[in-house]
Amino acid sequence: MKDTIKINETKQGEYGSIDYFRMIAAFLIVAIHTSPLSSINDTSDFLLTRVIARVAVPFFIMVTGYFVASKFFTKENNNISFHNFIKKTLLLYGVAIILYIPINIYTGYFHKNFTLIKLLKDIIFNGTFYHLWYLPAVVLGVYIIYLLSKKVGIYIVLLITSFLYLVGLLGDNYFFVVNGTPSLKFIYNVLFQLFDYTRNGFFFAPVFLCLGVIAKKHIVENQVKKTDTNKILIKALIGLILSMVLFIAEGLYLHFHFENRHDSMYLFLVPTMYYLFMMLLSIKIKPNKGLRLLSMVIYIVHPFVIIYVRGFAKVINRENLFINNSVIHFISVSLISFLIGYLCLKITNMWKRTRINPDSRAWIEINLDNLKHNINTLKSVLPNQCTLMAVVKANAYGHGDIAISKELNKIDVKDFAVATVYEGIRLRKNGIKGNILVLGYTNPKDFKFLVKYHLIQTVLDYDYAVSLNNFGYKVNVHIKIDTGMHRLGIDYDRISTLSQIFHLQNLKIKGMFTHLCVSDSLHQDDILFTNHQIHCFYKTIDSLRSMGYNPGKIHIQSSYGVLNYPELQCDYARIGIAMYGVLSNDVETKLSLDLKPVLSVKARIVLTKSIQQGEAISYGRQYIATDNMKIAIVSMGYADGIPRSLSFDNGYVIVNGEKAPIVGRICMDQFVIDITDISDVEQNDVVTIIGQDGNIKMTSEEIAIKSGTITNELLSRLGSRLVRTYRYS
Ligand SMILES: *Cc1c(COP(=O)(O)O)cnc(C)c1O
Repeated sequence: MKDTIKINETKQGEYGSIDYFRMIAAFLIVAIHTSPLSSINDTSDFLLTRVIARVAVPFFIMVTGYFVASKFFTKENNNISFHNFIKKTLLLYGVAIILYIPINIYTGYFHKNFTLIKLLKDIIFNGTFYHLWYLPAVVLGVYIIYLLSKKVGIYIVLLITSFLYLVGLLGDNYFFVVNGTPSLKFIYNVLFQLFDYTRNGFFFAPVFLCLGVIAKKHIVENQVKKTDTNKILIKALIGLILSMVLFIAEGLYLHFHFENRHDSMYLFLVPTMYYLFMMLLSIKIKPNKGLRLLSMVIYIVHPFVIIYVRGFAKVINRENLFINNSVIHFISVSLISFLIGYLCLKITNMWKRTRINPDSRAWIEINLDNLKHNINTLKSVLPNQCTLMAVVKANAYGHGDIAISKELNKIDVKDFAVATVYEGIRLRKNGIKGNILVLGYTNPKDFKFLVKYHLIQTVLDYDYAVSLNNFGYKVNVHIKIDTGMHRLGIDYDRISTLSQIFHLQNLKIKGMFTHLCVSDSLHQDDILFTNHQIHCFYKTIDSLRSMGYNPGKIHIQSSYGVLNYPELQCDYARIGIAMYGVLSNDVETKLSLDLKPVLSVKARIVLTKSIQQGEAISYGRQYIATDNMKIAIVSMGYADGIPRSLSFDNGYVIVNGEKAPIVGRICMDQFVIDITDISDVEQNDVVTIIGQDGNIKMTSEEIAIKSGTITNELLSRLGSRLVRTYRYS
C-alpha cells in the first residue's frame, strides 16, 4: 500500500524560517567557493567550508522535496507541480548557462579538450560552470523521485535513494574504500567516465528530496495530532546537536586519515539535514518571499562576482586586501552578490506591480486644500482651550484614512478618533503620530494591541473597565458617560460606580466624554433635551472633581455639537463629517460655516447608444423611453457605493457641465443616463457623480437626501473598488 500525504492539512504561511535559512545557505555556498578562513587557519576553514557549509546544497534540495516532491505522494498525485518545477528549473538553468558562456570562453572552456560529448555530460551532470551542477541535479533527482512515486511508497523510496547515496559516498568522501577494492575500482572508473563527481542528480539529490517529503509528512502528522510545536522543536534540536557532532567528527576523521576524491558527501550529513529541517519547520516566522529570489540570485551570480572582485583588485593593485585576506574577500563577494540580488528583487517588484491608473473607471478625488480650509474654519470657532479631535473612522468617511490622517498630522492635528482598534493599528502602522482614541468596543483578545500601539480605549461600562484592568498592563482610557442616547457609556448619575473606576490600578484615565443624540436639530424639544444632556455631563464631572478625582480631558460635541452649541467649554471637539466639508443633511444650523467638500466622485462613459420610443432600459424594464433618446452607460454601480435607491428618485449626474438624469435601475457595476439634450458625449468622457463640473454642482447632501439617508452613510459606503487620488487645488 502506498503512503499518501494529506498536504491540504498543512497550514499555509509558516515557512518563514525556511525562507531565512535560504539566505544563510546562500552565504555558506559563497563560503565554499571563497574559503573565508583560509588565511587564518586551514583546519577551521576546512571545518567551515568542507563540513558545516555542506548543509547548504542539501537544504535547497530538501526545500524542493518539501514543497514539490511531497505532492507526488498525495492522493491527487500531482503531475502539474512536477511539470511546472521541471520547466521553471530548466529555464533558470538555461539562463544561467547563457550567462556564464562569456566566462566559459574567457577561461578557455571551449578550447581545452572540448568535445560535444563533454558538453553534454556537463549539461546533464557536472554543470557548465563549477556551481551550476546543482540545477541539473535537482531536475534529475526530482524526475527519479517522480518515477518512483508512481510505483512505491515514500519509505521504499527512502531505502532506494539511501542506497544510491551510499554508492555516491564511495565515490566521494569514502573513496579510500574503493581504492582498496579492485573490483569496485573498476566500476567507479566506468562511472567517472560519465561524470566528474558522484555528487549529482543520481546519487546525491534523491535522498534529500526524499527527506524533504518525509519532513512534510511528519509536519502534517504532527498537525493532525496537534502535537505541541515546542516538543517537535526540542526533539529536532537534540537530534540536530547529536548528528552535528557525529557529522563534524566524521569530517575531521576522514580529513586527517584518508585521501578523498571529493568532500561533499558524508554519512551523518543525512540525519543532520533531517533534524535541521525539522527544527526550521517548528520555528514559526512569517514567510518572506523576497528571500527566495534573493538567495537564488546570490547562488547564481557569486562565481561571476568572485571573478569580478579578483579582476578589480588587480586593476587597483589591492590584491593583498581583496584576495589574500580571505575574510575580506568573502565579505566583498557576499556583499556584491547580495546587492545584485537586492537589485533584481526591486526590479521584479516594480515589474509585478500593476500601476493602477487612478482615473480609469470610477474614482474619488480628494482635495486636501479643502480639508485644510475646513480644519482652519472649524478651529476658528472652537473656544481657545478646545482642541480638534479628527474623527477618521470608517476609512475617514470614505476619504482614505491614511492619506487624510497624514495630511492632518502635517497641519498639526495630533488627536484622532477611530471606531475600532484595527483602525487605530492601521494608522500607527502608517506612521500617524499623536493620540488615537478608540470609540468602540475592543475585544479583550485585542487588549494587547492597545498597549503595543499606544491607543486610548473608551471605557464602555463598569464591567468593561474591570476587564481592561484585569488585562494587567497599564492602558490609557477615556470614560464614556451616557447622558440619554443609551448607546455606550455609564449612566451619568452612577457617581459611586464611576469613582470606583478611578481606583482600578491599571487604568490611566485621560478623559471623559458623552455623545449628544439630537444636537443636529434646532427644534425646541431637541434643544431642551440636548441642554439636559450637557447639564448632566457637567454635573457628573463636577461631582467627581469635588471628590478629588481628575476626569482628564472632557469632551461632548461632534460636528453638529460645534455648529449648534459652539459656546460649550470643553477640551476636545470630536469632529467628523464637518471636517470633510459636508453636513449630514440640509437641516439648518446655528453657526453656518463656509465649509468646502473635500471629496468628488467621478466615472467614465463606457458606451453611448440610441433608444427608440417604447423601448426599456436596465433591469426590470422599469424605465420605458417616452421618446426617441440617446443614452450613455456609466462605469459605476451600487457596488462602488452609489445608492441603488437613487434610481427611483430623479437622480442625476453631470456630463460636460450639464445635468444628465439617471434612467433605469442602477446595476452593481454600471448605470444608465439620459444624454439626449447634451451634445458631443463620447466614450471615455468623465461623468461627475459628486462634485462640480462647470456651473453645475452635485453635493453629497443632495444625493443622500434623494436616496433617503445621510451623507455620513453615503460617504462611508463608497466602495473599496474606487481608487482615491489626492491633490491640492
Ligand atoms: C462618529 C462619531 C463622532 C463624529 O461625528 P460627526 O457627526 O461625523 O462629527 C463623534 N463622536 C462619536 C462618539 C462618534 O461615534
